[in-house]
Amino acid sequence: MAAPIATPKMTPSNVAVPLLDLKAQYATIREEVRAALDAICESQRFIGGPEVVACEEAVAAYSDCAYGIGMSSGTDALLCAMMAMGIGPGDEVIVPTFTFFATAGCVSRLGARPVFVDVDPDTFNTSAKYIAPAITNKTKLIIPVHLFGQCAEMEGILDLAKSREIPVMEDAAQSIGATRHGRKACSMGTVGTLSFFPSKNLGAFGDAGMVCTNDAALADRIRIFRDHGAQPKYYHKWIGGNFRLDAIQAAVVRIKLKHLDAWSQKRAENACRYAGLFAGSGVKTPVIADGNVSIFNQYCIRVRRRDELKKHLDARGIGTEVYYPVPLHLQECFAHLGGKAGDCPNAEAAAREILAIPIYPELTEAQQAAVAGAIVEFDRAGR
Ligand SMILES: *Cc1c(COP(=O)(O)O)cnc(C)c1O
Repeated sequence: MAAPIATPKMTPSNVAVPLLDLKAQYATIREEVRAALDAICESQRFIGGPEVVACEEAVAAYSDCAYGIGMSSGTDALLCAMMAMGIGPGDEVIVPTFTFFATAGCVSRLGARPVFVDVDPDTFNTSAKYIAPAITNKTKLIIPVHLFGQCAEMEGILDLAKSREIPVMEDAAQSIGATRHGRKACSMGTVGTLSFFPSKNLGAFGDAGMVCTNDAALADRIRIFRDHGAQPKYYHKWIGGNFRLDAIQAAVVRIKLKHLDAWSQKRAENACRYAGLFAGSGVKTPVIADGNVSIFNQYCIRVRRRDELKKHLDARGIGTEVYYPVPLHLQECFAHLGGKAGDCPNAEAAAREILAIPIYPELTEAQQAAVAGAIVEFDRAGR
């Protein structure tokens, strides 16, 4: 017989805390969302239409971009934008090895080769230092990822890209609204992509995403590729796909966008509070680079004995996650690219040592104290 699963005790010092609490967020916007969804049900207009256009305009304006093209997911945003930029067989695309799979998966799906580069040991973002040696005459695109809520060092990357005439795609799936020297994520490169996956800071009620750009011609091409490459309808200029955003997701995203800055502010306050709670312990808290304002999509601490800590927190009902346990150059599906252990030491160390802990806006002080208390307790016991 399997051992019974222990239920965590609910004492003030032992409060169960999920990694993310979307129900708490929904409770604050329920009426507004339901009214919007009702209106869409009455209209029976589910694909395209005014809701989608309004969402595109609002998100693009928020991101300081001229054009927003709604997409069926953050993955499809990457894929469709790369299709519109003509990425294909024989091309190389530089991506950080420490990111969500989609960034590189889309490159391979188009027949191009992802070239993996290491990341900074403090911010976990890649930079010009790691990208420069990977550039060849086949490099057709550089994709810096703004990981965990803060922007990569874009000025160095943009200078390098400009000198080699290579476009830059910002994967901002985790960083909508983040700024670097006052510039918004998605507005610095040639093009930027967003995800509205429910666990992102701006989450839809299903899969959704967007491409943002200031390049009018590229925006037009992306819009055409989003709809099977047809222009006009049934006359196919290119081979695209169905990457459309639907009205229900667009409505939810537009309602939540109005709250996003307040939510990001709360996350930043929680990050500040954690810094105080962890001061003097062996827990390394996230480093936010000079010039960056993070939206803290994740708050990743760095610890020795990470896997044991995760178990310790699991047993106390505290939600955590490992983003990401295996860097992309070591993934089985990319073995044919020849990556091996030791190629990207900073990413490999991060994969062993970092752990995301609850940072969501509705987290209470008591919950936060419980999370930090359990982590500090574990840290002390190990010394
Ligand atoms: C979430 C995410 C994506 C993919 O977004 P989906 O909407 O889940 O397809 C791409 N890149 C990064 C860095 C992400 O975190």
